[in-house]
Amino acid sequence: MSKQRLLFITTGGTIASVRTQQGLKPVLSSEELLAHLPELKELCCPETLALCSIDSTDLGQEHWLMMARAIQENYALYDGFIICHGTDTLAYSAAALSYLIQNADKPIILTGAQRSIVTEDTDARTNLYDAFCYASDAASHGVSIVFDGHVITGTRARKVRTKSRNAFESVDYPPVALVRDGRVL
Ligand code: GLU
Repeated sequence: MSKQRLLFITTGGTIASVRTQQGLKPVLSSEELLAHLPELKELCCPETLALCSIDSTDLGQEHWLMMARAIQENYALYDGFIICHGTDTLAYSAAALSYLIQNADKPIILTGAQRSIVTEDTDARTNLYDAFCYASDAASHGVSIVFDGHVITGTRARKVRTKSRNAFESVDYPPVALVRDGRVL
């Protein structure tokens, strides 16, 4: 079977941040993020689209529309979409996209990290790899969040922890899948 063509859309967040004199800044490009995951090339054909580079607390409705438009404009060209996002408002963007793009038959996945991809004990590489694994799975579709090995439906997530890797919980609904060592369960 041919590899899935996946569009990696970046918006900023801690995952893409580096330490500067003004504190953490989301300056890493989408290509720089993917350069940390050379193994992805075995799994899929990733391409990149940089939408913005901001802390997600500065993200608003216009950005939700920007993300929805980017997916709609590229919908026919790719098998799935991965949006890289700051964790503070990731659940809100996932909910907004769930209503803006309904009944999608392709996966639209949001992920991020509690620590920048350039830090040693980062969760970024695992979360990104899991997101690409889930996006490559034949059964995945619609808007969801992949974080700390859990796949949460886009309308059900809430950020409940600011430091631990398991930042999100699925509210009144079980996680729809788990991703473990590159396998979707
Ligand atoms: N406030 C930042 C953001 O949401 C930090 C949280 C994060 O990315 O993990 O972009």
